[in-house]
Amino acid sequence: MSRFWSPVVQTLTPYVPGEQPQMARLVKLNTNESPYGPSPKALAAISQQNNDDLRLYPDPEGVFLKKAIANLHGLDPKQVFLGNGSDEVLAHVFLGLLKQAKPVQFPDITYSFYPVYCKLFGIDYKTIPLGSNFEIQVNDFKTPNGGIIFPNPNAPTGRSIARSQIEALLKTNIDSVVVIDEAYVDYGTESCIPLLRGSACPENLLVVHTLSKSRALAGLRVGFAVGHPSLIEGLERVKNSFNSYPLGRLAQAGAIASIQDQAHLESTAKKVIQTRERLVKELASMGFDTLPSTANFIFTRHPKHAGAKLYQALRDRGIIVRHFKSALIEEYLRITIGTDAQSDELLAALKEILAAF
Ligand SMILES: *Cc1c(COP(=O)(O)O)cnc(C)c1O
Repeated sequence: MSRFWSPVVQTLTPYVPGEQPQMARLVKLNTNESPYGPSPKALAAISQQNNDDLRLYPDPEGVFLKKAIANLHGLDPKQVFLGNGSDEVLAHVFLGLLKQAKPVQFPDITYSFYPVYCKLFGIDYKTIPLGSNFEIQVNDFKTPNGGIIFPNPNAPTGRSIARSQIEALLKTNIDSVVVIDEAYVDYGTESCIPLLRGSACPENLLVVHTLSKSRALAGLRVGFAVGHPSLIEGLERVKNSFNSYPLGRLAQAGAIASIQDQAHLESTAKKVIQTRERLVKELASMGFDTLPSTANFIFTRHPKHAGAKLYQALRDRGIIVRHFKSALIEEYLRITIGTDAQSDELLAALKEILAAF
């Protein structure tokens, strides 16, 4: 606390990301990073860009990266917005599109950064309860609002809804923007990006992606949004009032090569899905209830053991998962899908822990 803090800083409750511990031998299953490395082509592109050109500012527009993203998804480059991680993209979305007279709506259990942005930007928000098994019920979002945002699949539950349900929501919710945060879409969820192709592109749908999860580039900090050119223009106005150069030369080079290597994404996502299915089965045989997941993490609870207790016991054994203290989900653990070997270590530790309790 300092008397020099501005009034708004005094009221903030910053987002707390999952920890990045410095301990040596550790099974790190707490922040949904990929257990496999990025595309070797991305690493090569970054190395190649590591030269004297770094004295020059990067392309402020990220023209080549926008083209690569547009190509991959069948869009026009004017439909693409870039940011320093999707968290930065989301910040600009909240200020530039979701700060309206009516409150923005998001689920009561969702990515906990959304209320943090609302506080920072002075945005009124309303949380919508999930269904009894943590499912998003789009009909509950149809009340008057200044915008709607949720991840699909949702975080931290891992549950997804069909694209047709979002299409139905768009048809009734015509007076505000619907933002779908597709951070985990590559692990078995239907993307909404096809809705944005061609002249049928709705004016009020924005889809946000990150290269941090399925493309294994959390350390590079690249995210993007795609939508109607008029929404993108609004976001560019915010970005160019904040930081003209959010993506450095290394980030742009690595991101382009990653986007162009879809085969690497598909093969690593497939491995993650296989490990997830195996892990869910093994956990069920130990009495865990796991929500159906189409993400690279699962949300699971043991009816006989508190989430906080399991979290601590795993930690004592060098296995870090995520536990949220919020009353609605305190029984649960969110576990990132690692390699098969990491899953085996997790299962062995849980067997030991359950036997000891
Ligand atoms: C991880 C995550 C992000 C942010 O990713 P960046 O690393 O900032 O690109 C955004 N939304 C959700 C739901 C996430 O889980």
